[in-house]
Amino acid sequence: MHLVPCPWCGERHESEFAYAGEKKSPRPLDAGSLADDVWIDYVIGRANPRGVTREKWWHVRGCGLMFSIERDTRSHEFVAGSAEAPR
Ligand SMILES: [Zn+2]
Repeated sequence: MHLVPCPWCGERHESEFAYAGEKKSPRPLDAGSLADDVWIDYVIGRANPRGVTREKWWHVRGCGLMFSIERDTRSHEFVAGSAEAPR
């Protein structure tokens, strides 16, 4: 059992959350001018790193907040104090 630290609710059971993907850079404003391979990489490319990565999580069975947090993919442990709610 893992506890996920929601910035709004505090630590809750992982079954209340849904993984929403890697935290990516903002969507390019000039997407129409990008080469196809660059756009495809932005839309469906995944880095899938080994180690600490920033991810998006959704407290779908709780407060409904979508937030980002750092997690070590080797241990599934969340990095304390790294959760950020959207502004
Ligand atoms: Zn919450």
